[in-house]
Formats: sequence, C-alpha cells, structure tokens
Amino acid sequence: MNGIGPAIAARLRKSGMNCIGDLLLHLPKRYLDDRQSVAMRDLREGDEARTRGRVVDVEAYGRGPRRQVTVSLMDDDGSMLQLRFFHSPFLLRDARLSPGRWLSVRGKPEWWQGRCQMLHPEWMPVESFHAGWRPVYASLAGLGSARMARLVHAAIGLLVSAEHSPFDVLFPEHPTLRQALRLLHTPDDAGPEGPLMQQAFERLRIEELLSYLHLMRRMRIQARVDAEVWRDTSLSHALLDTLPFPLTAAQQTVWQEICADAALGTRMHRLLQGDVGAGKTWVAALAMLLAVHHGSQAALMAPTSVLAGQHAETLNVLFAPLGKRVELLTGATKAATRKKLLAGLADGSIEMLVGTHALISEDVRYHRLGLAIVDEQHRFGVRQRWELTERGEGVHLLAMTATPIPRSLALSLYGDMDLSLMRGMPPGRKPVDTRVVASRGKLAEGMQRVLDDAGRIYWIVPRIDEDEDGASVEQRVTGLKERFPDAGVMALHGRMKATEKEQVLSAFASGACRLLVSTTVVEVGVNVPEARLIVIEEAENYGLAQLHQLRGRVGRDSAQGYCVLLPSSEASKTALQRLQHMSGCHDGLELAELDLKLRGAGDAVGARQSGDMGFRLIDVSRDAALIRYWHEHLPDIEPTEAMLRFWRPLAESVD
Ligand code: ADP
Ligand code: MG
Repeated sequence: MNGIGPAIAARLRKSGMNCIGDLLLHLPKRYLDDRQSVAMRDLREGDEARTRGRVVDVEAYGRGPRRQVTVSLMDDDGSMLQLRFFHSPFLLRDARLSPGRWLSVRGKPEWWQGRCQMLHPEWMPVESFHAGWRPVYASLAGLGSARMARLVHAAIGLLVSAEHSPFDVLFPEHPTLRQALRLLHTPDDAGPEGPLMQQAFERLRIEELLSYLHLMRRMRIQARVDAEVWRDTSLSHALLDTLPFPLTAAQQTVWQEICADAALGTRMHRLLQGDVGAGKTWVAALAMLLAVHHGSQAALMAPTSVLAGQHAETLNVLFAPLGKRVELLTGATKAATRKKLLAGLADGSIEMLVGTHALISEDVRYHRLGLAIVDEQHRFGVRQRWELTERGEGVHLLAMTATPIPRSLALSLYGDMDLSLMRGMPPGRKPVDTRVVASRGKLAEGMQRVLDDAGRIYWIVPRIDEDEDGASVEQRVTGLKERFPDAGVMALHGRMKATEKEQVLSAFASGACRLLVSTTVVEVGVNVPEARLIVIEEAENYGLAQLHQLRGRVGRDSAQGYCVLLPSSEASKTALQRLQHMSGCHDGLELAELDLKLRGAGDAVGARQSGDMGFRLIDVSRDAALIRYWHEHLPDIEPTEAMLRFWRPLAESVD
C-alpha cells in the first residue's frame, strides 16, 4: 500500500494490523473541533487554539542541540505570535515560511518574557487549511496520530467492493458499511455528536455483532457431535491426593460438572468463569489428567507466551509426583525442539501440551487430541477457540476466563456454551485494599515502603507509545528509575519479543526487578506472589471487571495487597464515582454487573473501554441492549468469509 514500506508494515503487523481492514478499524480515539480560528489577541494561555498570521521574520538562535528556529507572525491588528521549533534547521529554507506568507497555526499559547509563543505548533499555509472536525488517532507501533491519519486515509482510498457487507440491506436508513467507515475517519460538519456519525458508529458495531453471533451459531451446530465417554477419574484423584490444599467448594463443583460432561457421550462445550486467583489452573489440571488417563491427548492454549510458559511450569510441578509431563510450544520455540515436539505429538508419545496460538499452526498434527482447554478465552476469536477442537474427533472444549459476563448477557454472548461459575477465593487470601488516588505525592512514600519490604510493584500504563494524551511505557520507566534508583525498574509490553518478555518476568519473579512498568499484558494470568502493589494509570478507561482482573495480580499470598487507581485529569465525576466501587467490591461478576448498570448507551463515538472481551468496537456494557436485541433477531443472512476475517479480534494475531 502507498506510504507503507516493508519496515512499517512489519511494525504494524506486530501491533496486530495485518490488512487494510485492520487499519480502517483503527478508529479515531477522539475528534478535534478545528472549525474555528481565533484572533491572536484572543488567545488564552494554555488553551490550545488555531489562529492565523503573516510571517514577518524567521531567525535561528543558539547552537548545538538547543538550536532553535523562531518564526514571528503578525496579524492585521498588529498582534504578534512567535512559533518556536527545536531541532528543525531545515525550516530556515522552507519557502512557505518566507516573510509575507500567511500561515494557519494550531498550538498551545504561552507567554514568555512578555510575548505570546507556541512551541512546535502545527502549521500550514492558510490556503491549505480546511476548517472542520479532525480525527485524532491513538499512536501505534511508534507512529503518531498524524502518521496514522495518513495511513488510514490511504486505506480509505482503497475501500473497494470487498467492504460491501451482506448486512447492508438490513439497514436502508443507516449508512452502508463503506460509508460508515469513511465517515468515521472523515467526520462531517456536525461532528461526532451529529446524527450521521452516531448512525455510522452504530452501523459498524452492529456489523461486528452480527458477524460474531453468526459464528457462534455455526459453532453451536457443530458442537453437537459424539465424543468419547470418560468415566475413570482415578488419575485425577491421584493428583488431588498430592495437592497441598483441598479443593475449594467452588473448584469441587466445577470439577464435578466437568466429570458429568465427560461421561455424557457428546462433546463438552463449557465456559468456566472464575475470578483471578480463584484456582482455575488446578481444575484444568484435573481435566487434563482425565483425558490422558483415557488415552487421549490434552492441549492447553493461552494467549501469551509468558502465560503459556508459566502454565507449563506450574503444571509440571503438579504432575511430577504422578510421573506425567507437559511440553511447551510457542512461537519462540526453537526449530529443532519444535520438530521433536511435533513428532511426539503426531506419534502420541507426548500426552499433554501447553502453548500459544502455535498449537493451531498449520503443521501441528495430534495423534489423538481429546481435550482442548483455552485459557483467557476472550483473548481468542470464536474461530480460534474452535480451531483447536477441530484437530481431533469429538474433542471436548473447556474455555476459561477471569472476565465474567453479566448474567443477563451471558446467554446472548455465549448461548452455545454451558456455563460454570467459580466464585470466591482459596482460604487465607485478603481482599486487595483498593483506593482511588488523585494526588501522586503520598503514593511515592507508599511505594518506597513496599520496596523496602522486598515487595514488588506493577505500574500499569495505558499505551506503549508516547502520545499527546499521556504517558507511555518509556516515559514512566525513565521517571520511576530516577525516583527509585534501586528498584531495578524494567518495562514489559506486547511488542517485545517473547524471550525478552520472559527475561523481564523472571527478573521480576526473582526480585532483580522490583518495579515493573507494563501495559495490560500482565492482565493475563501472570503469577508473582511477592507483588504487593499495583498502580493503574488512567484507570477510568477500563471496565470495572477488567480493573478487578488487573488487581488480581497482587495479594496472591497471605500478605496484604494494594491497588491504587490513578484517574487521568480528564476523568469525569461519574467516572470517578464508578471507580469508587472498586474499593468496596471484590467479586468480578458483581463488578461486571455493576458496570452494566452504571454505563450503557450514550458514550461518545469511538470511545470504548480498553479491550474487555476481544471485540473490536463492541463494548459489552455499553452495547448490552444491542447485543440482546440482535441475539433475538439474528437475521438469516450469512456474513461472507471476507467479513468474518475483517472482524477478527486484534488480539488474535498478536504475540
Ligand atoms: P486463576 O483462577 O486466576 O487461574 P490460579 O489457578 O493461578 O488462579 O490459582 C491462584 C493461586 O491459588 C495459585 O497459587 C494456586 O496454587 C492457589 N490455589 C488454587 N487452588 C487452591 C486451593 N484449593 N487452596 C489453596 N490454594 C489454592
Ligand atoms: Mg489463570
């Protein structure tokens, strides 16, 4: 595609952008009202604004890295504005800045030595400026908003018949899928609150929902096939005898449900919802042994290599007394090892396998796969979940998640699955002490106390890349290193190589690193018992259930765990009140239901909480009514394969 060379394409792919459709679904995170220019004399300190003026002078000051170019502007009533640019000597030779030319500029005015100035404003000749609403994109793969805007616009130019949706006929009043995509990237004059854009956004969400619901329906039909009957639980019970603690009542119930499914003679198709730390791994282990005891293979798929690695380690400790082993297969597995593993899987000498998406790569053949377990299942697309079960005959499926679905929605979203709910924690665990903190002063003291006590801290930032809207991983690492020089601050995020991630996590587990700055990759399952404190920036952008999952990373042993929620300065009053519920409630399902009640329709176009459920645009809380409606009124029109690919969740291709 125009404007995308191989290097940029590779970077985008690492962030999950594989095709034009992915780019088109990278919707603006907000829209900038750029309809009006103000006169220079009306500029106010700190308020970003657009204004215009004639170039009167262009000069360079200073030497070395601080060398700067200053462009002086004057308007018709004699007001002056200085534009300052560092590291930009090329501006001295830019003809568009010759004295006498009129510029349109946008920036934050500040007063310095009695003069009004803007640092690094956006500028262009007045003729090139078109007043209107402008999309602002979240930066991705190190590409800022302006760069993303250019890429997305190139992609819009390529919008062709492939983006025709079979569902378009259902919505004679709404924009078509193509029109909707175009509009959301190039807003009309009415802006994001305007009726047309609202419709476009809704049209797009319905499109995603219909594709999803159709896939679920297909899966449901395929689920009703015969499967082997497994009744002999003796090997699983042998494991129970070696466990250091008895099963909790909740674990016991779920284990019995699984045994009942396995004895039925049809496929198990079960979703296990259980809070973080509720002990889903032991249940999975019992089920794996049940399969193995009947001569079948069991495979457990996890969304990240870090989590897969941890599962392999945990399970091998559990299985050692029984003389059983699991093998690990991820994208990072070396070619020679991989070859041996594949041979072992094909001839049946490997009984149990743990891994990432690698488990469903083209060349993996199973001798006799009988049980597929998908951990953190919401991180996989419906299709991927299913794909693992298609690697054998009548393969039982156990999907697990720590993000529970509100009861009232579970049927609509997972109507095809039997649901198990695991509430409560193993005994001895204290609820995580959770606070919403507005000022960061006291926080540093608390952090120091945790570090002095050999505890570990997670610091969660919302994005990898720097962004005009806030903090990035790198920025925080730099800042926290200065403040806590002895804490061995390290970074963890989804764009690192699997081996790098593992190194960082093992440093965190061993204590070489005691303060880990991370994006939400840690959300999925990482277990470091010494973690005492988790700080979550821009907390208002997450769903309550997701925050609950994040805070489940701490308080994993008997010591008191703490969670500090740092809202951004833009958080609304209602958002802050919503966060307050986190301190009083420690049940994931209750929080998910609360979220549903507190939020709902009326959120702005594009605004969406970060990645709850593996949907691209659908937000389970906000779109609850939409989900229920279309579940009941699912039209008979089948989505095309191209459309299904278009909507596959971003998470599917990452890691
Ligand atoms: P999750 O449900 O989040 O996957 P895990 O399976 O990782 O939770 O379990 C969390 C911790 O609880 C683990 O350290 C595990 O050893 C421990 N655990 C699990 N079941 C029990 C139990 N019945 N009694 C005591 N501790 C348990
Ligand atoms: Mg787990």
